[in-house]
Amino acid sequence: MEEEREEPVPATGLPVGIDLGVKTLAVCSNHSESHEHHENPKALYAGARKLTRLQKKLSRQEKGSSRREATRKRMARQHMRISCVRSDAIHKATSSIVAKAKPPETRPTLIGVEDLNVSGMMKNRHLARSIADASMREFRRQLSYKCSWYGIELVVVPRFEATSKPCSRCGCVKQDLMLSDRVFHCEACGHVVDRDENASDNILMLAVSSAERVNGRGGRVRPAVFSGHDPLKRQLKPAG
Ligand SMILES: [Zn+2]
Repeated sequence: MEEEREEPVPATGLPVGIDLGVKTLAVCSNHSESHEHHENPKALYAGARKLTRLQKKLSRQEKGSSRREATRKRMARQHMRISCVRSDAIHKATSSIVAKAKPPETRPTLIGVEDLNVSGMMKNRHLARSIADASMREFRRQLSYKCSWYGIELVVVPRFEATSKPCSRCGCVKQDLMLSDRVFHCEACGHVVDRDENASDNILMLAVSSAERVNGRGGRVRPAVFSGHDPLKRQLKPAG
């Protein structure tokens, strides 16, 4: 059944950059000092661990046996449970980010997210990583249709290198940043920030500047201009 939807009123609030992650589901930046963190539900990890145990049990059981069949059914139910927990958490996060119930001036004009390298992700069997991969895909899927429903422009920026390694304050690239480094410490300007928050700031900047380039050609609406402490100035030309 297809739901009838009215043409959305374009949102006019501050743009938001989202870093989708392994540990934290999503970190959002709108260039205020505080970032919004959306955590993965703990039930997701507990559920996934249980699934791994069932998988091991299944592999030990005799093929065609009724015990094996029972385990297979338990696994199917567990898969379903995990997918519900995941989907529910992501619905809460994406709905809160698009701020659907709020007036257009408080909803983000545009949302920037990273491009996902899905083929590379599917190969990874590590538990936390596989949870994150499925969550990122689902997050992107929900965000994409919710943006179109609520008049928000969704901008996809190239992933990892461009978003994790540069300092969001001075732009200096930290070549030796490891995946295990949770805090980004810039030797050039002394900026110390949560790694995911730094990435979300960079995603925001890249998304805004790429939207400006496109909109400059296409004549669409410019994103709102920022106020306050504003590293965006190094990438943004003055409006007008
Ligand atoms: Zn710096």
